[in-house]
Amino acid sequence: MKFFIGTTNPHKVHEIGAILHATGCEFEVTDPVDPEETESDFDGNAILKARVYAAHAKGLVISEDSGLVIPTLNGLPGPWSARFSECVIDRATWNVTDIVPAGYSREVIDRRNNERVLNLMRTIEMPRRAAMFKVVLVVARPDGAVLFSGVGTSNGWIADEMQGENGFGYDPIFVGDNTFEKTYAELDAPRKNLRSHRRKVLQEFQAWLGKFLKEQEK
Ligand code: IMP
Repeated sequence: MKFFIGTTNPHKVHEIGAILHATGCEFEVTDPVDPEETESDFDGNAILKARVYAAHAKGLVISEDSGLVIPTLNGLPGPWSARFSECVIDRATWNVTDIVPAGYSREVIDRRNNERVLNLMRTIEMPRRAAMFKVVLVVARPDGAVLFSGVGTSNGWIADEMQGENGFGYDPIFVGDNTFEKTYAELDAPRKNLRSHRRKVLQEFQAWLGKFLKEQEK
């Protein structure tokens, strides 16, 4: 059985690929089609991406949408996590009203995203610094059928400043509720992966995959 992994993020390829490898499935990363994420929630964007990638690859695709959710900021960065520093926010409603691409590299955008969150949270004290990572993972067929959809979350809070060099995205400012006061970026990859939202949804995916592969053998 072969799956395509619909993402351009090498960190996600590594985590998803390890599970597929362990179950004896082949996998290939899809071309970087990079569909525009036009939906306003993780579920919508995960399905949209999986369908676009599956139609392009003409095979089964695993795709996901993920991000950081901060209830105090009305759920932001949420589905806008990847490009939060480029978003125009209406501070009365906390709605994102526009995205203005600044043309920076992924690394610079990630740093600016973190700086923006820290800035918005500057005067906020615990317990209102609570946050969670959320991921929705979807398997879709080229005809658009969704075969699997699962959700994973991990809880924690926003640190006062960036700490650590590992991981990606918001890892330097996210302290897990089971990471002994360390940010995810201060953990090595195996320790982060053991606790992460992605690991939780991949466990659910792995259970589904076992059943799916058995059905295919019949
Ligand atoms: P996506 O590629 O649209 O799903 O973007 C997800 C964004 O959410 C990433 O660019 C990161 O900023 C953030 N994100 C998702 N998962 C993680 C994680 O495990 N650690 C840190 N940031 C994450």
